[in-house]
Formats: sequence, structure tokens, C-alpha cells
Amino acid sequence: MRKKIIAGNWKMHGNRAEVRTLITELKQGVTAFPKIEMIVFPSFVFLAEVQALLQNSAIFLGAQNIYPAKSGAFTGEISTEMLVETGCKYVLVGHSERRSILREPLDFIAKKFKAVLQAGMCPVLCVGETQEEREKNMTEKVIDHQLQTVMDFCGLDAFREVIIAYEPVWAIGTGLTATPEQAQQVHQFIRTLFAKQDVELAQNLSLLYGGSVKADNAASLFAMPDVDGALVGGASLIAKDFLAIAKAAEQVSSVLC
Ligand code: PEP
Repeated sequence: MRKKIIAGNWKMHGNRAEVRTLITELKQGVTAFPKIEMIVFPSFVFLAEVQALLQNSAIFLGAQNIYPAKSGAFTGEISTEMLVETGCKYVLVGHSERRSILREPLDFIAKKFKAVLQAGMCPVLCVGETQEEREKNMTEKVIDHQLQTVMDFCGLDAFREVIIAYEPVWAIGTGLTATPEQAQQVHQFIRTLFAKQDVELAQNLSLLYGGSVKADNAASLFAMPDVDGALVGGASLIAKDFLAIAKAAEQVSSVLC
């Protein structure tokens, strides 16, 4: 059975003292939720410090970005090797903020996805439609295209041990959340897309929902059969809120066991 995963994308938030407090509280709190997997994605500058603080904890470390080259003249960029050395197990790829603000194209996202896998880490591939695309009934077409671009470049097998996060762009940081039914519909669409080629792969694929997940909407989202957890932005910066989301995931996992 797929484990529930709760991932916190801290984006460009926090200072050293806040990060220390947050990690200390999460480390203590997560011990109450043995059935879930927790991942945090701090800013690059705090990765080493967070890794040190995470020693002997069940929380995994992830990075928010990489550059898809081993090394070289890429000023300001970070390689997969650097991240592996810092203890990262996961890397966010294709987040909509990078797609829209930094204009990252899909073929570049596919290269990042491959680079993360080749380095032995797990990519968390974010896909999702804009408000306009949803209103034009293009949600499935858009997601199909986003996934297909990565699949064409990396092959189906590359998806065996990765995480996909469905993050409707209109729900990220807006306070708007997809209803559990809307989330389930898209998650089911994604799983079916893979099942057409490999049923086992599709069944094992972890599909997270992201977009204004909070303590009060988490349980209903996690109750959906194809929602395997959440990628959380704002609410992951407050230990009490993030742990409440983790608790909702733990409770669903306990019922399913
Ligand atoms: C995100 O940025 O991945 C995200 C889901 O943010 P928020 O939870 O704040 O909407």
C-alpha cells in the first residue's frame, strides 16, 4: 500500500532562527505519526543546517531546485551532486512558480527530472493547470502534455520511484483549494494515464495534492482514494499547522491499515 507523504515547500521563507525552531518542533511532533513520511524543502542556504538538525529523525530532506548539469560554468546554480552531498533525497521539479516566474520550459523540466534520478534522488514532479485552462476544460489536456514531455524524454520506467504532485496553479497560495472531488478526478486521470502502459507502476505511484492545503481541509482530501498526501506551502511554515496536516494523514492511514 502507498504510504501517505506530507511534504513542506518552504519557498523563500524563514531566517536561521525560524528554521531551527520549525525543525525542532517538527522533529518532536512527527514521532506521533509513524505511518506517514514527512519531507521538508528548505531554501538552499539552510539545507546543511537542516540536515544536521534532522539527524536521528524520520523527516527527509529535499531541495527546491537543481541545475541539470554535473558541474560547470553555471553561475548561481546548484548541481545534483552538491545536493546529494548535503543529504537531499528529494528535489522539486516543475513547480508552477518556476514555470511562470522563471519561465522554465517543459523540456528543461524534463532534463531536471532525469538529472535528479541519475543522481539517485527522487524528483517530485509538479503538474497543474491555470484558472483559465480549467475554465476552458483543458485540465486533462494540459496535465497530459506536462507528463508526456517528461515521459518522452526520460521513458516510462523513470516514473517507477518518483512522486507526482498535482498542483492546480489557481489554488497555490491563493487560499482556494480544489474540492476533494476535483482533486480525486485529476489524480485518477493521472493514475489511469500510467495504468494504460503499466498497471503496477500506476498503482505504486505516489500522487500528492498541492494548493492551499490546511489543517481543516486535509482530512477530506486525504480520504480520496488516489490522493496519497500533500505538497504544502504556506501551512508548512507553522509547525502546529503542518503537524495537524500530518495528523490527518496518519488518521487516514490508520483507517486504511
Ligand atoms: C506550493 O507552493 O507548492 C503550495 C502548494 O503552496 P500553498 O500550500 O501555500 O498553496
